[in-house]
Amino acid sequence: MTFPVVGMVGGGQLARMTHEAGIPLGIRFKLLSDTPQDSAAQVVSDVVVGDYRDLDTLRDFARGCDVITFDHEHVPTEHLRALEADGVPVRPGPEALVHAQDKGVMRARLDAIGIPCPRHRIVSDPADVAAFAAELERGGPEGPSGEDGGGRRAGGFPVVLKTVRGGYDGKGVWVVNSAEEAAEPFKAGVPVLAEEKVDFVRELAANVVRSPHGQAVAYPVVESRQVNGVCDTVIAPAPDLDEELALKAEEMALTIAKELGVVGHLAVELFQTRDGRILVNELAMRPHNSGHWSMDGAITSQFANHVRAVLDLPLGDPRPRARWTVMVNVLGGDYPDMYSAYLHCMARDPQLKIHMYGKDVKPGRKVGHVNTYGDDLDDVLERARHAAGYLRGTITE
Ligand code: ADP
Repeated sequence: MTFPVVGMVGGGQLARMTHEAGIPLGIRFKLLSDTPQDSAAQVVSDVVVGDYRDLDTLRDFARGCDVITFDHEHVPTEHLRALEADGVPVRPGPEALVHAQDKGVMRARLDAIGIPCPRHRIVSDPADVAAFAAELERGGPEGPSGEDGGGRRAGGFPVVLKTVRGGYDGKGVWVVNSAEEAAEPFKAGVPVLAEEKVDFVRELAANVVRSPHGQAVAYPVVESRQVNGVCDTVIAPAPDLDEELALKAEEMALTIAKELGVVGHLAVELFQTRDGRILVNELAMRPHNSGHWSMDGAITSQFANHVRAVLDLPLGDPRPRARWTVMVNVLGGDYPDMYSAYLHCMARDPQLKIHMYGKDVKPGRKVGHVNTYGDDLDDVLERARHAAGYLRGTITE
């Protein structure tokens, strides 16, 4: 067989959906999964169960793979360097991926290439957090002005603290109002990044894909709405986004991909500030929740383009198929039997696309998402929300 083998580290839903995108191309897929029950391990035929933190496991896994890519950012950077030294193509490579692994490294690099970010610095202890807050206060009135709707409190607080490594879905992020509140983040023994609390009107995401050849494509900038620190709804394209600002966000994401040497999908999470600026919050170098709409709403999905990119194939058209596409995540609720909701959901909205990840339904756990599309945004939003709520069991009619 001459079809290449893509080695995917991590068995979550991103791996599952990337595998799905490779099937029509005949791409072979090999998975390194924590357990045989993981979302992707349930559907991939060639699964190695093992620990991605162990270099020998990674080396064994990499044998027989034409390229290695990822479902998460947690593989130690030095292991990736070792795999590269063994001659295994790692995409994205460690020198790019480190910027999605370490928020301190990411902020320093974005500063160096002139990409706007929230004001920030690494802090050493709660007293240093207070010193940072005081610096923010001295930064003057041109900076963002504190909490949503309110002014910055005395002393420059609130401040956002983040452990530089290991956070996800809002874990590893604290908003603190005083030095006394700032003890917790330092307990993990990981460096802590302090940032101004940005007064944003909404969160956006600019998704781009880049190949080793240097070809790159940009998806339309989307609006991403979070609930309790977890992505809830994505609207593609972001409604009422000034064309110039959208273009700027796309250009920023393409610049970051190029400057950092990203191969594959890059999600740039952005804040749109009250005063009309765009600041980078986070980078993810893999398919991303803010790109799930593209499975049904774009000519080429983020997963299909990620597969193409890591194999250095020409990238597919990222343009939308419909005026509006809305994605809503399906979280676990009180009813474990989501399948019984399919009849109603599918009958109510023939355009609805349901994507389930094969996970046990537990309250609050991301177990799937729905996409739907059309010409009228309010109608599309209503249909997507209704389906997600009905699947979860929070809407019963
Ligand atoms: P994670 O690693 O969990 O994705 P993020 O850095 O994306 O962490 O932060 C999670 C959420 O916290 C963001 O989506 C945003 O809502 C909020 N947040 C993060 N940084 C800031 C900031 N500097 N100002 C205001 N809100 C922030």
